[in-house]
Amino acid sequence: MKVLVVEDELKTGSYLKQGLLEAGFVVDLAANGLDGLHLALTEAYDLAVLDVMLPGIDGWQVLQGIRRAGKDMPVLFLTARDQVEDRVKGLELGADDYLVKPFAFSELLARVRSLLRRGNKTKEAEVLRAADLELDLLRRRVVRSGKRIDLTAKEFALLELLLRRQGEVLPRSLIASQVWDMNFDSDTNVIEVAIKRLRLKVDEDFELKLIKTVRGMGYVLEINE
Ligand code: CA
Repeated sequence: MKVLVVEDELKTGSYLKQGLLEAGFVVDLAANGLDGLHLALTEAYDLAVLDVMLPGIDGWQVLQGIRRAGKDMPVLFLTARDQVEDRVKGLELGADDYLVKPFAFSELLARVRSLLRRGNKTKEAEVLRAADLELDLLRRRVVRSGKRIDLTAKEFALLELLLRRQGEVLPRSLIASQVWDMNFDSDTNVIEVAIKRLRLKVDEDFELKLIKTVRGMGYVLEINE
């Protein structure tokens, strides 16, 4: 899942980005309101974390721009201590929840997951499936034939992408941008290594192999023999 963080304080921004990355999200960080709004309108996000006090256009204007464009992703905004009117204003403008600074990252993560859970009820399935493989997006759990499989955050994101686009051959460049949030660098074999590890965990012990290499093209998850 992809999260947009709009935060001008460098330290807070990178702290949020790093934490969300470690929790398995793909994260874009914008350091001002205009960049944040631009990203929100041009990329697809599952959720936005929006600081209120931003240079240029503030968090409220970003939020209004997002809602005016008809984007209904959940928005969690970050507000200063004791700004009660801020919270009311934010919720009136269409924010879904707020957090008062300073906050513990664990609290932010809990809010983010709760918002995604609420949004997901109507939007999409919470569990992605292929044959006897199940990936539970909210519990962040993978099970095959009833057996729990432990994945790293990146392996989870990779499997999620393969499952969402089941049957579709995914080029390495696409996997690199979606899962690693980087441009594909032909010198690195990070994707091959991750696919190999994922196969060991997901396919090795099972007769039906789900993850396939399409030579010269990329990878696909499909049920066909
Ligand atoms: Ca700020």
